[in-house]
Amino acid sequence: MRELLSDACARAARYTDALATRPVAPAPADIAALARFDEPLPEHPEDPAAVLHMLDEIGSPATVATTGGRYFGFVTGGTLPAALAANLLAAVWDQNGAYRVMSPVAAKLEEVSAAWLRDLLGLPGQAGAGFTTGATMANLTALAAARHALLRTAGWDVEQDGLFGAPPIRVVVGDEVHASVLKALSLLGLGRARVERVPTDDQGRMRADALPALSPSTIVCLQAGNVNTGAFDPAAEICAAAHDAGAWVHVDGAFGLWAAANPRLAHLAAGAADADSWATDAHKWLNVPYDSGIAFVRNADDLRAAMTVGAAYLIAGADREPCHFTPDMSRRARGVEVWAGLRSLGRAGVADLVDRCCRHTRRFADGLRSAGYQVLNDVVLNQALVSFGDDEATRRVIEQVQADGTCWFGGTVWQGRAAMRVSVSSWATTDDDVERSLAAVLRIAGSAR
Ligand SMILES: *Cc1c(COP(=O)(O)O)cnc(C)c1O
Repeated sequence: MRELLSDACARAARYTDALATRPVAPAPADIAALARFDEPLPEHPEDPAAVLHMLDEIGSPATVATTGGRYFGFVTGGTLPAALAANLLAAVWDQNGAYRVMSPVAAKLEEVSAAWLRDLLGLPGQAGAGFTTGATMANLTALAAARHALLRTAGWDVEQDGLFGAPPIRVVVGDEVHASVLKALSLLGLGRARVERVPTDDQGRMRADALPALSPSTIVCLQAGNVNTGAFDPAAEICAAAHDAGAWVHVDGAFGLWAAANPRLAHLAAGAADADSWATDAHKWLNVPYDSGIAFVRNADDLRAAMTVGAAYLIAGADREPCHFTPDMSRRARGVEVWAGLRSLGRAGVADLVDRCCRHTRRFADGLRSAGYQVLNDVVLNQALVSFGDDEATRRVIEQVQADGTCWFGGTVWQGRAAMRVSVSSWATTDDDVERSLAAVLRIAGSAR
């Protein structure tokens, strides 16, 4: 075992070292070589060292170097050193995080990190927390709590009796709602198409003046951090209106909620803490390994009621049982890496990480704007949208940038126009990474001109 683990660590270190020089996207030949995995199920056992060798030889070159400093696609964090090392140790522990009796340390570190996160993100101290695979499942988890609470108020037990025959729940979303919220609503029986959509402004923010009349049977889904622009729905105004009407407010803050951890940017998330539930990711801006998201619910009992199960052999103690707050039962101890990330950065380190990503994004926007390209959004956070001319020109530049390998940016369509998305979310990105990447984009866009 010791030799095998040393071999794994040596290979991991070589992979990490190579990040500085390898292309960000894998070469087509490396992707084609994945066909070597297409073999019949082996009839006989194989030496674990040989299995690892094969995985490294074929698998490592076919990864995307998202943990390096020059990946700017989607909203993708890297892996903080402390979180990565904690992940390795926790993998060796192989703890089942369902019940406290199965892993006291997993239960403890969830509690500690949940408390630190509530503090850091400005959320209510008593809010219940569930550790999920990501923000999609955190949205689902929090919205299940909302569904529970609203129907209980209406005299209906949704966990026992389901939705057939239940009093209707209305769901209000902004036109720019993230697809994962719609997915969560569909899984909860609340439907994607029956939502009431509120128009948004030029930055994708929900227009508070266009809210429909709300009621105690309404869930309002806000967004903290639009995936294209980084913009925030006006939470203070909408939370006040919603609560006057007895409605529930849920905030999808997958990455944007982390603005609250930086004093200079916290104003963007103003009012988000007034909501009733929140979803966020740790694998985005906190830079812990996949998969890691957290659902928070102001009234922890609502979350517990929506997620709890019982069976004779599952004897829960008096303390918080992790699986009473998540859709999963058996699952890995993902609180470990959240704890390690926060323990290593501290409050100042998180604020600095958020600040650096925003500064790098502004540098990209300024550099591209001064070369004559158009930045389509107000760059308020770590997201910028760039057009290189008409849609075809923009798509061609994105494609060539991805093939060039210096860095990686994705594309989108923003208000009818093709755009390159600049999304800086990694602790690993340095000023030098930004300058090298900017130079590559300018070179490619310039020759396309
Ligand atoms: C990334 C993202 C999600 C989905 O998060 P996953 O971790 O991929 O499940 C939801 N909402 C927003 C705003 C996001 O940026």
